[in-house]
Amino acid sequence: MNKPIKKIAIILAVISLFPIIFFSINEYLSLNKNEKIIQDIYNKQLDAIIFSINQYSDDIVRSWIFKTEDIIRQNKDEKLLQNSLNEYLPITQSVKNIVLADTLLDALTAAKFSDLDSISKIIKNNINLVRRFFIYKNQNYQKIESINFGDYVLLLFVTNNNKICVFQLNKKDFVTKNLSGRIRSIASDQFDIGVFHSGQTVYSTENFKIYKAQQSANFWLISDYQLAMSVKGGTLEELIHSRVYTNIALIAALGLLMSIGVFFVYRNIKREMELAQIKSDFVSNVSHELRTPLALINMYAETLEMDRIKSEVKKKEYYSIISGEANRLSSIVNRILSFSKLEAGKRNFVFEEIDLNESAKKIYETYLHHLQNKQFVFSFVSGGEIIISGDKEAISEVIVNLIDNACKYSNQIKKIVLRTGIADRFGFIEVEDSGIGISQDEQAKVFDKFYRAAKGLVHDTNGTGIGLALVKHIVDGHKGKIELESDTSKGSKFRILFPMAED
Ligand code: ATP
Ligand code: MG
Repeated sequence: MNKPIKKIAIILAVISLFPIIFFSINEYLSLNKNEKIIQDIYNKQLDAIIFSINQYSDDIVRSWIFKTEDIIRQNKDEKLLQNSLNEYLPITQSVKNIVLADTLLDALTAAKFSDLDSISKIIKNNINLVRRFFIYKNQNYQKIESINFGDYVLLLFVTNNNKICVFQLNKKDFVTKNLSGRIRSIASDQFDIGVFHSGQTVYSTENFKIYKAQQSANFWLISDYQLAMSVKGGTLEELIHSRVYTNIALIAALGLLMSIGVFFVYRNIKREMELAQIKSDFVSNVSHELRTPLALINMYAETLEMDRIKSEVKKKEYYSIISGEANRLSSIVNRILSFSKLEAGKRNFVFEEIDLNESAKKIYETYLHHLQNKQFVFSFVSGGEIIISGDKEAISEVIVNLIDNACKYSNQIKKIVLRTGIADRFGFIEVEDSGIGISQDEQAKVFDKFYRAAKGLVHDTNGTGIGLALVKHIVDGHKGKIELESDTSKGSKFRILFPMAED
């Protein structure tokens, strides 16, 4: 990677990738923080719901107390009072007995007589508590004490008519008959709520089990019962996790998309810069190519003009140099024109049946003398008649370009072989040299327009970098193929294959 491209890569990374990475990390961290806050809020909400169920239970008991006090007030006669209390019991649904005693604990009245002895014993045992309740009552505060009593709970309190009162409450009935409706309505389809007694379900919405509970609390009235609940449809943790994962996946997808975008931007810029570099190289190469023959022509023409050369032989030599250089000039210009015509799609090939071997042989004969002068061993291996359908001039251009390269890129071993032949219904010509060769990673690039290898001999040789691009254009136009075998220690072999003409 050259320096400016490296710089652009770094700038692109800094202005786009780093912010994405920072954003993603920050988003990830804040997500976790937010989820913690949400979880806290959720838990508080669950607490509030459990609290409201406890509060509701208290309200029910208070309403019973209110009614009981009413009954006491209306029934001065002991027998009537007992009957009224008895009638009231079924209405409560879960109170099995109401026991009343006066402050001296002697006048005992009860709705039912079962368990009466044990209940009055419990009242006696708690007499200090009762005394305190009387004090509270004078301060307008009615306290209720719940005392465990097997399947029942005894709710002990003092009425506003100065009676000691005990509700014998059936725990299970209270939950299933008095509370269940309320629990169901709170749960609706958002929560699962249940009441549990040492891990066993007393009542629950759906099939809720204690181990699924996200939040739980003691039942105020029934101390060995537990209230528990959770959010429906997966635990809260699962919900939060799935949310976090979705968000992270989205961030990752966004990051990936941005990275792909950055990559494409980078690739385009890199390509543009390389192209700009190649174009400027091309201009300087072409200028250099044109300047050399022009300078020679100029020099020899001036010498002749000044009439300094007397010998006819010398003069003839100068004329031939001038014409040779002029030819070189026109061939360069022609090549560039031919290339730009091909590039613009303006060149039309004239297809005719030609003998590839014949064309190659002609070029061989034309170039033999020229190459021998340059100390080349140039040989031709004929493959016999090869009839293909092609543009004669274009195919000559291909062969000439290959021979020109073989000659230009040969070093100490000056040996070129031109070969023709047939392989797999293709006629081919092959130009093999023992020159500097082309490295593996440059082999794919040499057919690009304006491309010239960057190092060594190539740098010292004139060229515009369009010879092989021209070859490729022409071969493509003939639906042919190019095969290149090259090694920097052995030299190169270019094989151009053309489809054989159909009979
Ligand atoms: P031009 O042909 O336009 O005067 P050029 O010879 O540099 O210039 P191409 O013929 O397109 O351009 O060749 C492109 C590059 O491929 C060359 O610059 C050279 O690096 C490499 N190359 C081509 N033929 C050979 C070869 N026979 N041996 C080694 N390298 C070669
Ligand atoms: Mg060339």
